Amino acid sequence: MFPRSAHLADFIDLDRISTALAAAQPGAPAATDAARLEDILAKAEARAGLTLEEAALLLRTRNPETDQRILAAASRLKKSIYGNRLVLFAPLYVTNECCNRCVYCGFQDSNTALDRRTLTEAELQREVRILESQGQKRLLLVYGEHPTRGAEWIARTMRTVYETSNEAHDHIRRVNVNCAPLSVEDFRLLQQEGIGTYQCFQETYHRPTYEAMHLRGPKADYLWRLHALHRAMEAGIEDVGMGPLLGLYDPDFEVLATLMHAARLEADCGVGPHTVSFPRLEPALGAEVASRPPHHLSDEHFTRIVAVLRLALPYTGLILSTRESEALRTRLIEVGVSQISAASRTYPGGYADAEQQQPDDTTQCHGRPDAQQFATGDHRSLDAVVHDIVQNHGYLPSWCTACYRAGRTGEHFMDLAKTGGIQKFCHPNSLLTFQEYLLDYASPETRAAGNALIERELAAMPESRCARVAALLGRIQNGERDLYL
Ligand code: SAM
Ligand code: SF4
Repeated sequence: MFPRSAHLADFIDLDRISTALAAAQPGAPAATDAARLEDILAKAEARAGLTLEEAALLLRTRNPETDQRILAAASRLKKSIYGNRLVLFAPLYVTNECCNRCVYCGFQDSNTALDRRTLTEAELQREVRILESQGQKRLLLVYGEHPTRGAEWIARTMRTVYETSNEAHDHIRRVNVNCAPLSVEDFRLLQQEGIGTYQCFQETYHRPTYEAMHLRGPKADYLWRLHALHRAMEAGIEDVGMGPLLGLYDPDFEVLATLMHAARLEADCGVGPHTVSFPRLEPALGAEVASRPPHHLSDEHFTRIVAVLRLALPYTGLILSTRESEALRTRLIEVGVSQISAASRTYPGGYADAEQQQPDDTTQCHGRPDAQQFATGDHRSLDAVVHDIVQNHGYLPSWCTACYRAGRTGEHFMDLAKTGGIQKFCHPNSLLTFQEYLLDYASPETRAAGNALIERELAAMPESRCARVAALLGRIQNGERDLYL
């Protein structure tokens, strides 16, 4: 054990979660009360969220009709808050060196077959330039945990990313970080470098399972990790992201515990999570448990989980990675997901490798399966993803980073979101970043589909706003960049 968590409390109330799940079992009186279910859905659609007990009832339903009503309510709620916007980002793996033994992860210390690599400054710059040349503006930096690569080093890599630029208009505007939990003092270093969101997944909130899955290293300390987001907020990082790794334990339990974590953060720090992620276990080299998850999660159940999270946390960004297949991603976006990664490589140096890819190599690891963290399910380029979501689904891609750069973060952001005030920023800003993408990076087919979408969006706007946005779009067409409200 590590002494640093000795004073920390476990705020996940297992009894309350177990009681809520037991009361929601199919056949239990509460679970068969159709009027109550309708009330719960109506309340959630009115943006009032869900209690733990209400969320349990929705999660445990095995009634196909109720299931359809949950998905439809989540879909309507999502549209009413987010419209057709979809935020895009890419992960960038900086190091896969790791001193922990998380038995589900390809980077665990005992995996001697893994090609260990930490990007040099020049290699990191190369990855950033490649991503910039694709049109990415928002990156999630991912790090293994290693004693020689602490907060100062992480902060330096963040600075390198912000300072690396291809041309005047090519630079990364928001750097989010997924690294091991730090002390408050160390989180301050990341805050000073301009971190966007600090992301840390609890993996499982079921402590016996956590202990069985984390055999060695600082990550074996459950409480140190459980309090990571509180410490990040204490250090002044206002946007934090949380989530369970689905497949390790009962997924419904994990969702309820995530909601409890979110509520605790809001009660203690004044604001809940900015984002929630829900990665599903994917096969990984040297990690047998990842190929045969202890708790299998069907696509249907996974879809219901995303819908329930949307209903429970109406204003929280829900993030989906390329772990999932194209078809499932489409469904999950419909019922709640608001941010997706695209064209991801899940190992250090993966984007530079892809540039040297042989034409007949359709994998994501380019002959280097020994280097990936886990296998990805959606293998398309960013342009192909953008074309698909615009042309086939009518979504408006967004690379907007305005709120964070205008100081609309944390509590301020949530207040604006809850009163609907954020809408006057989000939709125009999405259009402005999309216009930049179409001019600077898109293929002719994507540009045509995108321009048609922008026309439709302008036509549907109130006249005064339309004139203002059209003027800004005109300035971008004339060469200006990085305009936002
Ligand atoms: N090392 C840091 C940590 O563990 O917090 C951050 C990087 S770690 C690579 C990021 C996340 O990857 C983990 O929090 C975990 O949820 C996820 N992950 C690990 N193994 C996975 C697998 N086999 N399939 C899907 N996600 C996985
Ligand atoms: Fe290391 Fe994170 Fe993978 Fe665990 S999940 S082995 S801490 S990289």
